[in-house]
Amino acid sequence: MDYMKNAMNQTIKKIGVMTSGGDSPGMNAALRSVVRTCAFHGVECLGIYRGYQGLIEGDFKEMTARSVNNIINKGGTILKSARSQEFRTVEGRKKAYEHVKASGMDALVVIGGDGSFTGGMVFNEEFNFPVMGIPGTIDNDIYGTSSTLGFDTALNTVVECIDKIRDTASSHNRLFFVEVMGRDVGHIALNAGVGAGAEEILIPEEDMGKDRLVESLKRSRESGKSSSIVVVAEGDKTGDNVFELKDYVEKNMPEYEVRVSVLGHMQRGGSPSCWDRVLASRMGVKAVESLLEGKTNYMVGINNNKIELCPLDMAVKGKTEIDTELLRVSDIMTV
Ligand code: ATP
Repeated sequence: MDYMKNAMNQTIKKIGVMTSGGDSPGMNAALRSVVRTCAFHGVECLGIYRGYQGLIEGDFKEMTARSVNNIINKGGTILKSARSQEFRTVEGRKKAYEHVKASGMDALVVIGGDGSFTGGMVFNEEFNFPVMGIPGTIDNDIYGTSSTLGFDTALNTVVECIDKIRDTASSHNRLFFVEVMGRDVGHIALNAGVGAGAEEILIPEEDMGKDRLVESLKRSRESGKSSSIVVVAEGDKTGDNVFELKDYVEKNMPEYEVRVSVLGHMQRGGSPSCWDRVLASRMGVKAVESLLEGKTNYMVGINNNKIELCPLDMAVKGKTEIDTELLRVSDIMTV
């Protein structure tokens, strides 16, 4: 495999890697991949603790292939993550650059969401410093990749929870509203809702209206269903919030006992799925090798099962779209 190593541009000798913003399952697997790809190509690797705040404080640790043993299966991030207000200031970023220069770092891999990518772009613009992004967020709300790291794991977590809720719902003729993450996008709600066989799925992209919801639930009841699961994305606009929806439905359908379950932060945790581990491994390799080829200001994404690069500014500015075909599938399944 020496031919591969030789093909790489060796002006980059030391790469920094950080996890930033909200954590997601698969971040550790991506870190492991970045560190090992560096080792494979004979490039030094520095782990940066607590995202941009660690960059400002020079909180770095040299990482070798053995520093990342036994983390591929771990949720969260061993580098810790943070949100840094100071990095939003010019002074903060100057401090960061001083530490970067002193450490001999030549390029940076940022594993995080669109905010973290924006930070990376600003840093690149100000100091002409090479940056590569890996999308780590459970929401799958990043343009330029059909899947972000952690999305698949979060879906599996949500489906497992809803399966359990369904057991109790069907034993007691109950209607459950299950709130899942997704302030601006309904990817988790739609995919997990279809996967868990929800009767209704409420997402921010579509305002169903409370009356149509009640009508639909009534139809479902008349068709012989004695319990129902409604999956609601956090940012859904059908009601003010999931509790208000519960009150409204209870008032209009007194025959149902209505309950609410908010899944919350458990959706972010847990051991990454096989898909997320493989994706993280592939993305880490692409991120490091792209930097070594002299590329900068890209995010690594996956589309049609091919790992490819998307310019960071497009990844930040672009909007992901809800899958209309999946919406239709969901409608048909609730006949
Ligand atoms: P999540 O999807 O979980 O919210 P994120 O990466 O979008 O993850 P943010 O909190 O938006 O999370 O951003 C992470 C960090 O990136 C911020 O705390 C800040 O340090 C840096 N950052 C974000 N936007 C900017 C910006 N405009 N300029 C400089 N730094 C920024």
